[in-house]
Amino acid sequence: MPLWKLGVTAAALLVTVFASRERRAGMQCPACGATAARPWLVADARISVDNGVGRTRRAVLRVLGTATATAAGGLGVIGGALFRNRGWIPVARDIMFAKVEATAKRVQPEWQEARVKTYRRLGRTNVMVSDISLGSARIDQVAVAQRALDRGINYFDTAPDYSQFGSELVLGQALKGRRHDAFVATKFCVSDGHLPNDTPVPKIIETVEGSLKRLQTDYVDLVHIHSCDSVDRLMAPNIHEAFDRLKEQGKARFLGVSTHTPNLEEVANTAIDSGRFDVMMLAYNFGLFPKFGHLLAKAHEHDVGVVAMKTLKGAKHTNLAEFRKESASYAQAAFRWVLSNPHVSCLVISFYELPQVDEYLYASGMAPQSGDLALLQRYDQLIAGDYCQPHCGECLSSCPYDLPINDILRYRMYAKDYGWEKEGRRHYAKLSANASACASCSAPCTNTCPIGVPIRDKMLDSHQLLAIG
Ligand code: SF4
Ligand code: SF4
Repeated sequence: MPLWKLGVTAAALLVTVFASRERRAGMQCPACGATAARPWLVADARISVDNGVGRTRRAVLRVLGTATATAAGGLGVIGGALFRNRGWIPVARDIMFAKVEATAKRVQPEWQEARVKTYRRLGRTNVMVSDISLGSARIDQVAVAQRALDRGINYFDTAPDYSQFGSELVLGQALKGRRHDAFVATKFCVSDGHLPNDTPVPKIIETVEGSLKRLQTDYVDLVHIHSCDSVDRLMAPNIHEAFDRLKEQGKARFLGVSTHTPNLEEVANTAIDSGRFDVMMLAYNFGLFPKFGHLLAKAHEHDVGVVAMKTLKGAKHTNLAEFRKESASYAQAAFRWVLSNPHVSCLVISFYELPQVDEYLYASGMAPQSGDLALLQRYDQLIAGDYCQPHCGECLSSCPYDLPINDILRYRMYAKDYGWEKEGRRHYAKLSANASACASCSAPCTNTCPIGVPIRDKMLDSHQLLAIG
């Protein structure tokens, strides 16, 4: 980190520590609670009303002496405080200075004007969708979605809780007059999260109707049961009844399930076997194969469309100093790997800046290239210990506080790797128990992670990052 950044970080900490010390040291009136001004401030005020030169000089010397002593004492206290709080320095640095890059450092000339080259069948929906499709969790520019549509993307994934309705509003504007060129997927939820399983059917219908209004359409193609962790939620009768009514009314065409669950084996098998689901959206990236290959094959056999998400495996590539040279090719290599599985119908990736349209679509329709595997392996080496794999839950049973370690580390990823602090903190604030418990825990989770995540350290880091503000 450049020295000036460390200097500013230290200065911010100095001011905070000094101010809090002064506040604590101020005299407080037991009756009203008001705090008296500090003596050195009173001395300063006295100078301005003292007309005698000698008295003024003495007063100045007195004040300077007091100030010097205060500063020296303060520096000692601050030095101690900085030492005690040294763990906060990287956190403060990250919060104040982190610049999470969204796009490749070097935009290659051949990426310009890249278009979708391949469309794949989305299971029994029988719709041909762009192999690289638009995720809109962070979108705030109508022009980005319009350019994606112009370049051939036809699958648009959104949700009411992406940017608290903002994503649906942006897509509604972008698709105006072109609605029939797009296949639109949204989720059963509201602006600040998921609907409970027992939400009354009319309320669930009402929330989807809210999505229709924001999307400026009278139907959506697909509605997912969002972030589904359990079979109870997957098969919640009220949600299914609401979907059937929406389908009868022509307001929704297909039903899907989106999930990051560690319980993927059970959730995916139940979804496929139930015959109720047309599409499954799950995390799938280099490293999650062959573990889930059989589930994708089963979905394919049952004609259930598969939408892959989290394909960039943390998307740390643009911020890894040791990966600078390779970072320009990483996203495309990661996409090519995902799409090399013929059972994947399409992948969704978050688009929110115009250059991403060129960069990401360049990989459309491409077979894996000779250097891709080595590149993906090198990325894996660099992120080892700092990436919590989706659909894993090996460590969960070790935690005496039943913390959702996988979810907390995903929220940390949103904040730290995606530069999406607000979303990470929003999710974290909703947890009934959080990683503050780790501070006094003996950490039985240690060594339970098969890919070497130092869980307690990462959880403490998550808490510092997500509980602030
Ligand atoms: S350190 Fe944290 S995550 Fe690990 S077992 Fe203790 S409370 Fe659970
Ligand atoms: S920390 Fe490790 S064991 Fe726990 S869910 Fe993440 S990848 Fe799995």
